Amino acid sequence: MKIRFSWLLPVFLYSSSFLFAQKDAIQLENPSFEDVPEAGARHKAFVLEGWIDCGFPGESAPDIHGGKTNFFNVVHKPYDGNTFLGMIVRQNGTWESVTQKLTKPLLADSNYSFSIFLCNSQTYISHSPKGGVTNYNKPVILRIFGGSELCQKDELLAVSPIISHLDWRKYDFNFSPKKSHKYIILEAFYSSESIASYAGNLLLDNASNIALKSGKGVNDNSLNTYIEANKLEQDRFEFSDTLMGTSFRIVLYADSDSIAQMAAQKAFARIQALDSLLSDYREDSEVSLLANIAGKDKVVSVSDDLYTVLSYALEVSKKSDGAFDATAGALTKLWRRAFRQKEMPPQAEISAALETVGHRFLKLYDDHSVRLLKNGTHLDLGGIAKGYAVDEAMKILKDEGITSALVDGGGDIATSNPPPGEMGWLIDKYVYNKGKIQVEPLVISNQAIATSGDTYRYLEWEGVRYSHIIDPRTGMGVTSRKIVTVTAPTCMEADAWATAMSVEVDPKAFLALEKKGISVSFSLY
Ligand code: AMP
Ligand code: MG
Repeated sequence: MKIRFSWLLPVFLYSSSFLFAQKDAIQLENPSFEDVPEAGARHKAFVLEGWIDCGFPGESAPDIHGGKTNFFNVVHKPYDGNTFLGMIVRQNGTWESVTQKLTKPLLADSNYSFSIFLCNSQTYISHSPKGGVTNYNKPVILRIFGGSELCQKDELLAVSPIISHLDWRKYDFNFSPKKSHKYIILEAFYSSESIASYAGNLLLDNASNIALKSGKGVNDNSLNTYIEANKLEQDRFEFSDTLMGTSFRIVLYADSDSIAQMAAQKAFARIQALDSLLSDYREDSEVSLLANIAGKDKVVSVSDDLYTVLSYALEVSKKSDGAFDATAGALTKLWRRAFRQKEMPPQAEISAALETVGHRFLKLYDDHSVRLLKNGTHLDLGGIAKGYAVDEAMKILKDEGITSALVDGGGDIATSNPPPGEMGWLIDKYVYNKGKIQVEPLVISNQAIATSGDTYRYLEWEGVRYSHIIDPRTGMGVTSRKIVTVTAPTCMEADAWATAMSVEVDPKAFLALEKKGISVSFSLY
């Protein structure tokens, strides 16, 4: 008797918890994504029984695969039923997700299990945001959210590993929501592996119901790791200020408004302070005052900031064979006047100014003192100082504990970690296309970018367009029409090289730059 009882008890307990779980399970509508196969279009509402598209405005909806027509060369057979769902992530920083209202809400602090079959398709060939064709075949992840409103991602409930296998495999998720949720959202999202892998896809089929489990629940470890890595709970803050003659913008993620405000204020104050050292537009700036020692056989000690910028300016001058030259101040002053008066500078004045230009006239010593050998030399750090200021602002943000930020000084941009849960910062890259300026999306993080060109500041004279970027070897404004974009570890490097490459640089220089993580792209008019 005793023996039989102890044998029965576990069976009884097992079946009662099983019944309990079934009774409380949330039944999804159309869990196997059954419908008429259809390539999700941009112009009409997404039609999949039970599910609603949560994608980005203007982008197409997810696709229902499994029919005779292989949309986008997806050749998988369904795991279950006749059709399955395909979702993509795009190079322009948009991605796909679907939602449904639950028949009863997910409850806070309860323990749920859920499973779904997932895989990747080797081919998912479709239009690219640039207008060409892309294979959206990179592996991505599934993120599962709970929400209180349609398409509102209130809480991340579970995250899959990177789905790179081509065969259907079952994934089991356990989660216990912190809040209750009326909606569930399934989302294809970038694997955080690399920003190069962002045209990707995820195939989904045969979801289970969402079963309530007994006992105190803990989330999957993978979710905790993911949240830790992405700090999803931080808010976005944006600030701007006019500094260094341009509009500076700071976007950052922080735990509170006061932390964000304080950090941004300190960063702006740093930029302001740098402007008073580095601006050649101010007669009393530290750099302008150096004109007083030009040709006088005098050395002066300069601030660490000015020394750092001058040192890198000199390095770029040497490596670019003088295409970049911080001693070109007399020339740039002349050309600035020409832009104002809309008149070509007289050749005699150009020649006289040229006499004072040359990086060999700038001497820097280890004790942070400076000598200018030639009488009349003026320094102009306009091609590098903004980049340095952007880097310094980012350093201040880091000191204030801000690890996810973007600092934009009128197109000279530095980024730290991506926004929480994202794979990078979406940047507008300017390019010429068929005679017009267009933007191309670019995703970066922990990297800087700068752009130089003749888009806004130039002189038209007798049918020729002269840029505000001057060739220090000829004294003439650059006339080859191009936009130069440089990405680099620091914004000072990006800024200086974007200006240098706008002039004329020996292709040999590019190789050396690549080794330092500096890459240059040209867009010719
Ligand atoms: P950016 O907008 O960074 O390309 O910098 C352009 C500014 O750099 C100009 O407005 C000038 O103040 C300065 N500049 C122009 N030509 C040169 C040059 N060849 N080397 C260094 N600085 C220059
Ligand atoms: Mg520059």
